[in-house]
Amino acid sequence: MALSTFHIVACPNCHQIHQKHVVIGGFPSYEWSDLWITSRGIPYGNLKINACPRCKHIFWVQPEDTLGILGNDSPLEWQEAPEADEFFDFSVWKHLVELPLFENEEQECYIRLQTWQNYNHFFRENISYTPDDDTFIAFNQQNIRRLYKILPSQPEENLLLKAEIQRHLGNWEECLKICKKLEKQLKNGHYLRVAIRKIRKLAREQHSKVVPIFS
Ligand SMILES: [Zn+2]
Repeated sequence: MALSTFHIVACPNCHQIHQKHVVIGGFPSYEWSDLWITSRGIPYGNLKINACPRCKHIFWVQPEDTLGILGNDSPLEWQEAPEADEFFDFSVWKHLVELPLFENEEQECYIRLQTWQNYNHFFRENISYTPDDDTFIAFNQQNIRRLYKILPSQPEENLLLKAEIQRHLGNWEECLKICKKLEKQLKNGHYLRVAIRKIRKLAREQHSKVVPIFS
């Protein structure tokens, strides 16, 4: 169960307002090996990047861009403002990497992780998918190599992501090594132990695609 609301955001480019969906509560739930969040109750919301529905400008939402929270007594202008498009697909994320839209490693990690998870959507929908375009494969590999390098090792979920990246790159031994390291760090009964066990098995089978692990 997720609680959500709408923020009123002013676009820093055209200065017109739009509504932005924001999840304010509920538990994230991971079902896939790349830790893509699927069941917050609501499948969208909380992107740190917005596309203005009026001028299409794409920007990082800063606190000063938010004018307030939409309520029953909000002015008509707020209530009738268009909603921001938050369904960015792989090609949008790829574009944001190539621009690039990031100015520091934290922003870069965020965009590269989203890009990878959106690339993996192809395989969630069709497990035997093969991109028509070889440049997609090369781009994805380059993206996750860089993500591996800049992703901090904390929290523990990040270490799992690092193991998963090595598995996707076909570096089986490296993947197993990270799994072992992470397992040592986790308390008994930690939910990530289930994921480690599955990722280790997949690495031994030399399987390199995203898979459901918690369902
Ligand atoms: Zn705009």
